[in-house]
Amino acid sequence: MEQLTHDKMLAATLRHDTGYDGKFYVGVRTMKIYCLPSCRAKLPLIKNIVFFRDRKEAIAAGFKGCKRCKAEFFPNASPVWLAAVLAFMEKRRTARIGVSKLVELSGVDISTIRRYFKSQFQSTPMAFHRKLRLARARKMIEEGTDYLTVTYECGYESASGFRDAFIKEYGLPPGKYYANRTNRL
Ligand SMILES: [Zn+2]
Repeated sequence: MEQLTHDKMLAATLRHDTGYDGKFYVGVRTMKIYCLPSCRAKLPLIKNIVFFRDRKEAIAAGFKGCKRCKAEFFPNASPVWLAAVLAFMEKRRTARIGVSKLVELSGVDISTIRRYFKSQFQSTPMAFHRKLRLARARKMIEEGTDYLTVTYECGYESASGFRDAFIKEYGLPPGKYYANRTNRL
């Protein structure tokens, strides 16, 4: 395996060499951001560049992935932690989820998760999960489940809390939604 010296890494960075993407990461000390060597963002002063052997090192040093080259997601369009987070949200539609659980599952910090959800889903992780819960609630109502059961099963603390959330998402209260549904049958 090629020995990556500081000079080699610097040269690869200066020529935006895609062949080195993933082999090391380029940190910008002043902005606490890390990039792929091929990143086309304006290069910082050389004295402000720091190299990391892998992402873990960069993250441990408090650096965030660059939005331009999407260093934190390389080589996948979606980050490695996403599948675990989505699977958890999907499974856990019966209650609220905590930020700490998402951090624990993903191994990345909450701001990384938030940033990704915002850019991909135009939503916060919590709002995204709320939608999943409500979609389940709606389905239960469509199937004829009474709405106190739905309130309980979908993890709402009160019927009024559920009602408010439902109206906010679907524009009418669950009772009415159900009535409309029944009338159509
Ligand atoms: Zn970059």
